[in-house]
Amino acid sequence: MRQLVILGSTGSIGRSTLDVVARHPDRFRIVALAAAQRWEELLAQCLAHRPDVAVLMDPDGARALAAGLKAAGSRTEVMVGEGALAEAASLGAADTVMAAIVGAAGLASTLAAARAGKRVLLANKEALVMAGRLLLEAVATGGGELLPIDSEHNAIFQCLPPGRPGVAAKGVRRVWLTASGGPFLRLPVERLEHVTPAEACAHPRWVMGRKISVDSATLMNKGLELIEAQLLFGLAPGSVEVLVHPESIVHSLVEYTDGSTLAQLGNPDMRTPIAHALAWPERIESGVESLDLVRQGVLRFEAPDRVKFRCLALAEGAARCGGTTPAILNAANEVAVAAFLGGRLNFTSIATVIERVLERLTAAEVASLEDVLGADAHARRLASEAIDAPAGAYA
Ligand code: NAD
Ligand code: MG
Repeated sequence: MRQLVILGSTGSIGRSTLDVVARHPDRFRIVALAAAQRWEELLAQCLAHRPDVAVLMDPDGARALAAGLKAAGSRTEVMVGEGALAEAASLGAADTVMAAIVGAAGLASTLAAARAGKRVLLANKEALVMAGRLLLEAVATGGGELLPIDSEHNAIFQCLPPGRPGVAAKGVRRVWLTASGGPFLRLPVERLEHVTPAEACAHPRWVMGRKISVDSATLMNKGLELIEAQLLFGLAPGSVEVLVHPESIVHSLVEYTDGSTLAQLGNPDMRTPIAHALAWPERIESGVESLDLVRQGVLRFEAPDRVKFRCLALAEGAARCGGTTPAILNAANEVAVAAFLGGRLNFTSIATVIERVLERLTAAEVASLEDVLGADAHARRLASEAIDAPAGAYA
């Protein structure tokens, strides 16, 4: 029986994880659930899955959650605040941690799970982009595992021979990361400036949280994934290619030196990679429908447009720079995306803000977590300044 902690249980990945778990009561037990704010939803999850511990960031919400649990006769213990997240991630009763908090907020708890030797199911790509090798080292010293949940990386993982995180497999020529292209793939570039948050979040293939939806619309998501792929699979910067594939059926491909290319296919539903990682190396039912290739008919592939989607080019540059640059890129992106979602920045200025921050900050080596957190904080300050600057001051 796997003993599971879900960090970010009320989010899109968290809910899909609980959906898979509920199909296999004989295989999984929920040890802890953690979320930011929505206490009513966390209460419902606790009553359905009966974890030992529930963690909420919001203190008022935590009080309401505790009262709701008590009234229902539940024995789930409520913990509050950031420290509680790392505590939940390293609970002795758990062997597996789904890291599904969005953004840098998930870094500390993902690291804690790795250090504690858990099987870490990594959805929180931002943690790996920021901490890079520090997270891989934490997995190695903790003695646990790191299994990718991101559909592309899970696909690559399935197409590679067994190996350790961060160590290159022999005989691989290239990895092809597929991208749907997002909701604006066919939108004329001059109209990008005026798109709304609602349009950016209306992804044609996947239903996801708002931050990753915007990242998919700018193609920053693919840029972050390129960095994620290099780190997870020990790949050199030039050996990861991005391929736009609007149908989102081929989730990624691995090309070998002998000319073989292996791909993983499936309907675009995150329950497939989640079920794969939860049960690995076994296979379990996920609730995802069979792929009907006859009905699908056509699978198209095309090169990405780096002029229209500048965020991809910025991330590729950051991948080549290494050091603290990916953390700077990630932080500036998080601030810019939040400003776009809050109506304070237009869509095309997301790339402009990130570009300005990257220009102003020099990359440094990463020797410790402090280096990463310092770069993150500095980049956030500069990004906020750029957003608050009078129009035209930084354009
Ligand atoms: P989401 O916004 O739907 O959910 C985020 C979850 O994190 C929520 O439960 C929220 O309560 C929690 N959270 C947010 N801030 C927090 C904080 N400060 N402390 C504690 N909890 C906090 O996001 P999502 O779409 O589920 O994405 C989660 C992660 O998975 C992201 O890193 C994303 O890039 C990655 N991912 C998502 C998908 C997808 O299909 N949704 C696919 C691949 C990767
Ligand atoms: Mg992905």
